[in-house]
Amino acid sequence: LLMAYEPAKRLMRMRVAVESNLVGVRMMYELMDQDDTLTEAPHAVDLVPGPGAVELRDVSFSYGAGQPVLSDVSITFQAGVTTALVGPSGSGKSTLLNLVMRLYDPTGGAVLIDGQDISGLTFDSLRHRMSFVGQDTFLFSASVGENIRVSRPDATDEEVFAAARAANAHEFILALPQGYDTPVGENGAFLSGGQRQRLSIARAILRRGEILLLDEATSALDATSEAAVKEALRHLTAGVTSIVIAHRLSTILEADRIVVLDQGRIVETGTAAELLQQDGVFRDLFEKQFGGTELLGIETPQG
Ligand code: ADP
Ligand code: MG
Repeated sequence: LLMAYEPAKRLMRMRVAVESNLVGVRMMYELMDQDDTLTEAPHAVDLVPGPGAVELRDVSFSYGAGQPVLSDVSITFQAGVTTALVGPSGSGKSTLLNLVMRLYDPTGGAVLIDGQDISGLTFDSLRHRMSFVGQDTFLFSASVGENIRVSRPDATDEEVFAAARAANAHEFILALPQGYDTPVGENGAFLSGGQRQRLSIARAILRRGEILLLDEATSALDATSEAAVKEALRHLTAGVTSIVIAHRLSTILEADRIVVLDQGRIVETGTAAELLQQDGVFRDLFEKQFGGTELLGIETPQG
């Protein structure tokens, strides 16, 4: 699979051994590589830098000839705003992020970044501006430092350290036997889940894209890791356009805006307080997951 990815050659030059069975398209995205199922438009142009607004305009989508997964989705994610994407399992949340990353093209409608239809843009210019942090962190059999630098190979050591500091990873890295030169082992076997996630956040910070896509982990991290990851995410989301598939109550409540998907359609948008006043999908999910509307404003009972 990995051989299909052109920039893999660059990684090979870093003499990095790759566990190809662990490579998922979204994990590769984190590393700026691209799926070869889509090709660039013949006269693709670079994305003109802007504030980072993301718009879905009448977007419909299905995987292959299957059922529609998204239907008539129109929404603007404003620049610099954090939006929590919420909805039942299978409602299309991950698919929406896939389309923003242009892992697939919509069957109808368009995805625009700062007014530019992404189907006409070069992959490189698009992917340089975006970061994806997912539930699993793909690590190469290389050092901790190389695993961070992979998101921007020309970064200086100082820039790598700064990204690690902002991601709350610097201290644990320094405590490793060889610091930044410590090999991570087979897909990071020596690291905890929370540490791996912070490396992924450090990559995203190093990338400095103005659009952040985050698929929040569902599995609970231990309390120390969770606090460290949350603080790291605060650094990451500050001032950038963030679309977060949110599972934690705290993430939902901290978001500037909530968008609720149900069966591939946007059914509600608003703040948590606004949505809880309606007898809708969000309140229903909220009650099932967190046990009651009286919880609003109260710290997380881990869902
Ligand atoms: P969510 O993230 O909200 O749980 P997804 O976007 O992952 O939902 O999935 C929406 C629907 O699309 C589901 O019915 C799922 O089975 C289907 N789906 C997701 N990914 C694929 C795929 N790669 N190929 C075919 N169907 C898919
Ligand atoms: Mg999902």
